[in-house]
Amino acid sequence: METGCEQAKTDLLSLFPEELESFAASLGHPRYRGRQIWDGLYRGAKSPENIRNLPAGLIETLKSSAVIRRAEVEEMYVSKLDGTRKFLFRLCDGKAVEGVLMKYRHGNTLCLSTQVGCRMGCAFCASTKAGLDRSLFPSEMIGQILACRETTGEDVGHLVLMGMGEPLDNYENVLRFLRLVNHERGLNIGMRHISLSTCGLVPQIDRLASEKLGLTLSVSLHAATDEKRKEIMPVARRYSLEELMAACDRYTEATGRRISYEYALIAGVNDTAEDAAAVGNLLKRRLAHLNLIPVNPIRERDFRQSGREAVDAFADAVRKGYGIEVTVRRKLGSDIDASCGQLRARRDGL
Ligand code: SAH
Repeated sequence: METGCEQAKTDLLSLFPEELESFAASLGHPRYRGRQIWDGLYRGAKSPENIRNLPAGLIETLKSSAVIRRAEVEEMYVSKLDGTRKFLFRLCDGKAVEGVLMKYRHGNTLCLSTQVGCRMGCAFCASTKAGLDRSLFPSEMIGQILACRETTGEDVGHLVLMGMGEPLDNYENVLRFLRLVNHERGLNIGMRHISLSTCGLVPQIDRLASEKLGLTLSVSLHAATDEKRKEIMPVARRYSLEELMAACDRYTEATGRRISYEYALIAGVNDTAEDAAAVGNLLKRRLAHLNLIPVNPIRERDFRQSGREAVDAFADAVRKGYGIEVTVRRKLGSDIDASCGQLRARRDGL
């Protein structure tokens, strides 16, 4: 049994500077000690002893009443093709999540996880096979960035919440994380450099719109009719496409931001001319960007990637036929199982 994770202890890396100040005060220490704790955490402290300038008495108190719940790199794989790095992060209770560091011309992007496992059940996704284990704390999301930075020496300028888990199914913790990561005294990553991806939880999309954060919302579409979507995404049984698109419209209305739609092309399942027309009709007249991704086959299902020609034909049909901006996602790290869920499944025998 690890001692570093107890629920009852104060989770230091999930707190804002002002909250750390109040915490220091509640322990009978001056408020400025809270700022020192914050600075120490973002310099990489893994234990209270690593925080500079703290008096021995406070270090002892922190050791018994608080926890630094981080994430540590357990395994790292580097793509020989493009330098993409894939991580298996170990959490303080021994569970694992995955992340990917991608190098783009505009800077480094970390794809990080928000839950251990997932309960959304998408048929093509490796992260959801064994259901949801637990949601991550804000500290554990911050911890993935700190661990990635420390292990690689690379800066992380952009984030995508597209690793394991459904971010909007861990709403409070994800929102706190977004505000922490945005804090200028900490990682200072701008909201415009962050994308959050959801399979389409309608009430939470509305809630997110009301926060007016300025991040990019990605919606996993993968099929443009309810019938087909229900076959591969159980969430479609809960919210129809009509309800989902209405929420997307309200989001655009409230934030003025264009939504990015994700569409994983699966040979013979959702990649025909008819499918492209359905996507075109759904997205035309909307502020939309379509991201096409050849599906990454996972071991448990025999979904196959659409061929190059089918992908190009699909992209052309939507772009030219309906005037929608389409990107075919460049595949990074294809030699290192870079799509999430597979490393953990292997590690934990799921
Ligand atoms: N739960 C969120 C975010 C995590 S998944 C969501 O559903 O959006 C990030 C993206 O990867 C989603 O668009 C998801 O549908 C997609 N994805 C999952 N498994 C995939 C696979 N095997 N191949 C291609 N894309 C996949």
